[in-house]
Amino acid sequence: MSHLVSSPAQKLRLILGDQLNASHSWYKVKSPNTLYVIAELHQEASYTRHHVQKVSAFFAAMAAFAHALKQAGHRVLHLTLDETSQYQDLPALLRDLIECYQTREFEYQLPDEYRLRQQLLVFSNSIEVSVQAYESEHFYLSDAELLDYFNAGKKHRLEHFYRKLRVRFNLLMEQGKPLGGQWNYDADNRQKLKVSDFNDVPTPLLFANDVRPILQRLKRHNIATIGVAHDHLLWPITRCQANQLLEHFCRYCSIRFGRFQDAMTSKLDTKLGALGEDKQWTLYHSRLSFAINAKLLSPKRVVDSAIAAYEAANGEITLAQIEGFVRQILGWREFVRGVYWANMPEYAKLNTLSATRDLPSWFWNGDTKMNCLHHAIKQSLDYSYAHHIQRLMVTGNFCLISGIDPDQVDDWYLGIYIDAIEWVEMPNTRGMSQFADSGIVGSKAYAASGNYINKMSDYCADCRYQVKESHTEEACPLNALYWRFMAQHIDDFKTNPRTKMVYANWLKKPIEDRELILARAEKLLGHIEDL
Ligand SMILES: Cc1cc2nc3c(=O)[nH]c(=O)nc-3n(C[C@H](O)[C@H](O)[C@H](O)COP(=O)(O)OP(=O)(O)OC[C@H]3O[C@@H](n4cnc5c(N)ncnc54)[C@H](O)[C@@H]3O)c2cc1C
Ligand code: SF4
Repeated sequence: MSHLVSSPAQKLRLILGDQLNASHSWYKVKSPNTLYVIAELHQEASYTRHHVQKVSAFFAAMAAFAHALKQAGHRVLHLTLDETSQYQDLPALLRDLIECYQTREFEYQLPDEYRLRQQLLVFSNSIEVSVQAYESEHFYLSDAELLDYFNAGKKHRLEHFYRKLRVRFNLLMEQGKPLGGQWNYDADNRQKLKVSDFNDVPTPLLFANDVRPILQRLKRHNIATIGVAHDHLLWPITRCQANQLLEHFCRYCSIRFGRFQDAMTSKLDTKLGALGEDKQWTLYHSRLSFAINAKLLSPKRVVDSAIAAYEAANGEITLAQIEGFVRQILGWREFVRGVYWANMPEYAKLNTLSATRDLPSWFWNGDTKMNCLHHAIKQSLDYSYAHHIQRLMVTGNFCLISGIDPDQVDDWYLGIYIDAIEWVEMPNTRGMSQFADSGIVGSKAYAASGNYINKMSDYCADCRYQVKESHTEEACPLNALYWRFMAQHIDDFKTNPRTKMVYANWLKKPIEDRELILARAEKLLGHIEDL
């Protein structure tokens, strides 16, 4: 590294790939004695097998951020894999930099991932120079405040937390009461997309960031990835692009966000352009999660913009649409972070339902006859993206009702999605979708039969399986698997008021039918690779 050193730097500040927050107070003062380090690292590109678009997006956004900081007059060292591959890990690189630059102060922003926070803590305790850690200044709740809201092992509820934050930050409130008189508009939302709705679905805003040099670097350094690579990345990599995507959401998507939040279709694959501008993978979703998680955008900016769009729309955008959106960011996103930090590192090992089956190999190629799973997985491989209900009620549901090992499920989600960083991925996957935390995140297991998928999508009409059947050879596999799962966990769920009705329906079925369904489920699990 010494060949790169121009002059000593008294202070070295580390910027991680998901800390691209240009509004951080660090950047208020410029000093030639402060060196900002942004580095592509083998350890980050390979701690799981990531989607190639995810690694490209982070590396491209880091390069753009380094460039913008330099333009703003800061002293920046941006290192690519070519320069860092000789180092075993982040501490090894930092140690060398501190020596080469004769640094006396090392500073960093608190990582959002337990793994990295521990690594930097251990490193900080091992060096002679002074160390200071800062808040990332990104979330509504600071790190220091989290423990006022969350306790380890406690079953917190989103609704309670969300209402507290609405009041505290005075969002969608009127004289101390929720605007419109209701906290929750779920009943008005969550509709299926009909053919007559198709024309209104907006064309997604896609970018075309040239990532060819990054793809070459990944190849050169043998970084194993999954998914389809595009030379021109469609995800936003600068704050300016992220703002454009936010504006696009406010203008074209917010109007029906809540209503079609849970809808899924396979009928809008129009493939308009080279980048695959089909609409069915985006619908009315914002696709802002990468930009927010990389901290190109603050959650406050996103929420304030959505509310401003609602206020300026003179009733054209209803409160139900905007409340649904605010709930995701102010509610769920802050909530899962609190759960993560209150419960790590134990949370990463929870497996309350003792699920041990291997993830089927078709999760890595989408090659399954189940149309819903085929679409959700194929889309995830093509775009590194699936919306919440595809993640929760299609892939997640299949893993839950088939008893797949949550470690393997976590690993798949952590790798495949553009927005997957452990603090947000794990409570959503292990908690909300797999119920492996016995309800710390969610009040019930999100288990569903084919009936739910049929209600929210048009997948079943084109499927090789029959959604209305349960135990025949053609029957939708999700039906038998669902009943098997519920029957198997009757002791875990029978007292839950949200599932009591399910058991009443199960026990109403003639015993012979129940046996046929359970036998079908066992057969399906025995041939899980062939479904
Ligand atoms: C099994 C599973 C795994 C998930 N893994 C991740 C993950 O790794 N990273 C991630 O950011 N989200 C994750 N989510 C939450 C959610 O699915 C994504 O945030 C969302 O699909 C991102 O797409 P979008 O930006 O178009 O979101 P929109 O539908 O437009 O929602 C707006 C924003 O709300 C926030 N949001 C919505 N739901 C959640 C949630 N449950 N938790 C946290 N934030 C939320 C996101 O910032 C999102 O950008 C996961 C959900 C499930 C069920
Ligand atoms: S029939 Fe079953 S497997 Fe096929 S798409 Fe519908 S829910 Fe999925």
